[in-house]
Amino acid sequence: MTRPTPPDHQLEMSGAEFTAMVDAAMERIAAHVDSLPVQPSHHLEGAAALARALEEPLPERGSSLDELLHTLFNRAVPTSFNTAGPGYLAYIPGGGLLHSAVADLIADAVNRYTGVWLAAPGLVQLETNVLQWLAEIVGFPASALGVLTSGGSLANFSAVVTARVDRLPEDFLDGTMYVSDQAHHSVVKAATLAGFPQRNVRIVPSDERFRMRLDALGAAIAKDRRAGYRPFMVVASAGTTNTGAVDDLRGLADLAATEHLWYHVDAAYGGFFALTERGRRVLAGMERADSVTLDPHKGLFLPYGTGSLLVRDGRLLRRAHATEGAYLPAMQDRTEFVDFCQVSPELSRPFRGLRLWLPLRLVGVGAFRDALDEKLDLARHVSRELDRMRGIEVIVEPELSIVVFRASGDGPDAEGTNALNRRLLDAVNRRGRVFLTGTTVGGRFLLRVCVLSFRTHRDRIEQCLEDIRAALTEVL
Ligand SMILES: *Cc1c(COP(=O)(O)O)cnc(C)c1O
Repeated sequence: MTRPTPPDHQLEMSGAEFTAMVDAAMERIAAHVDSLPVQPSHHLEGAAALARALEEPLPERGSSLDELLHTLFNRAVPTSFNTAGPGYLAYIPGGGLLHSAVADLIADAVNRYTGVWLAAPGLVQLETNVLQWLAEIVGFPASALGVLTSGGSLANFSAVVTARVDRLPEDFLDGTMYVSDQAHHSVVKAATLAGFPQRNVRIVPSDERFRMRLDALGAAIAKDRRAGYRPFMVVASAGTTNTGAVDDLRGLADLAATEHLWYHVDAAYGGFFALTERGRRVLAGMERADSVTLDPHKGLFLPYGTGSLLVRDGRLLRRAHATEGAYLPAMQDRTEFVDFCQVSPELSRPFRGLRLWLPLRLVGVGAFRDALDEKLDLARHVSRELDRMRGIEVIVEPELSIVVFRASGDGPDAEGTNALNRRLLDAVNRRGRVFLTGTTVGGRFLLRVCVLSFRTHRDRIEQCLEDIRAALTEVL
C-alpha cells in the first residue's frame, strides 16, 4: 500500500521512483530505436489533423505516465521525418548518438550549473577539454577558446559579434562583411541580429563549383573602400548546405590577411571531416581562420542542440561577451579557467559538454573518423552510380558527403525540367526507404543526397540508388 504523497512533495521523486519512470520510458525508447530501420523515411499524412488533435489545455491534474508515453510514441513521434533513421539523406542529417542521450539524462538529473566556473569546476573542466579537442581538430593554437552553442546559427552570431567588436568602432554601421551566394542564410541573419543593416552584407558570386569567387570578392572590397565603407569580415563556407562546396580556404585566408579582414569559416556542416585524411586536404586553410563554426549535431552525429564556435585568439571571444553582475559569483581572472557566461550570450545554460565528452571518451575519436570516412566513400559511390544512370546528370563531384544531381530532361525548357525533377524527388521519397530534399541553385531545381548519419551504410545507399532508378522510369 502506498501512502498518498503530501501536497508539498508532489514534485519530488526518490531514486527508486525515478528508476521506474526511466525504465518505463526506456521500454518505449528501446522499441523505437530498434525499429528505426523499418520506420518509413518520413510520414506526414494527416499532419494538420494530428496537430489539432494534440491541442490541449493547461492541465490542472496529472495523468498516468503510460498514457503520456502513448501520446508521444504512438501519436506524436511517428508523424515526422525519420531524422534518426538510416534513410535520412535530407538537408544535413540527424542521427542522434544514444551516448549523448544518456549524457543528457545524467546532466539534467544532476543539474549542476556550468555557466560560471566556480559552481562546478570539474564539470566545466570536462567541457573545456571538449572545446580544446575541437580546437585541435580545427588546427588552432593553444590560444584558442571556444564555446558550445545551441547550433551553428548561434555560433555564427557570436562570430559576427566577436569580429565586430574587434575590428570596428562602437559606431559600426559603415562596416561591411562578405559572404558567397552559397553561404548559409544564418550568416545574414547573424549580421542583422548583430545590428547590421542587411545591405551591409555583400553577396559575392560563386564559380561553377559553387565556391566564392576571389576576384569578385577583391573587387567588392575595393569598391566599398572607395565608397568609404569599412570592410571588416569575410565568411567562408566549408561545406555549403546546397552542394557541399568548400570555398578556397587558403586563398581566402591570404586575401583576408592582405585586406585586414576577420576571417570566419562556417564549417558547421563540413568541419569535422578534418578528422579524416581526405577531409583535411579539402579543408586546408581552415586552421588559418580567426574563428570557425562547427556543428557537433552534424559532423559528430549528436542529437540536435549542439553547435560550437572556436576563436583563434580566445581573448577576443571574451572581450565581445564578457560583462559583470554584482549578484554573480567571482569570475576567473586567470586565463586557465573559463566562465562560460563570459564567452557566450548565455548565462544559465544546459551542461552541453557532456553530450560530447561521454561519447568521445567512451568510444574514442577513431570511431568518428571511421564513420566520417565511410560517409565520404558512400557519397563518392552515389556520385559514380548516378553518373552512370542514363538521364541523370551529377552537377558537381562531391567534395564532402553531399551529392547534387538532376534528371537532365530533354530540352531547353528550364521550367519543364524543374517540374520533372520535383516529380522525381516526390517519386523517390514516396517509396519511403530514403528521404531526399531538393534545392534551387541558379534557377535550377536540384536533388541532393546528403550522407551524414552514422546509421547510414552501404545497404541503404543501394536502396537509395534503386529507388532513384525506379522513380526515374516512373516520371520520364
Ligand atoms: C546547418 C548550418 C548552419 C546552421 O546551423 P544550425 O545548427 O542549424 O543552427 C550554418 N551554416 C552551415 C554551413 C550549416 O550547414
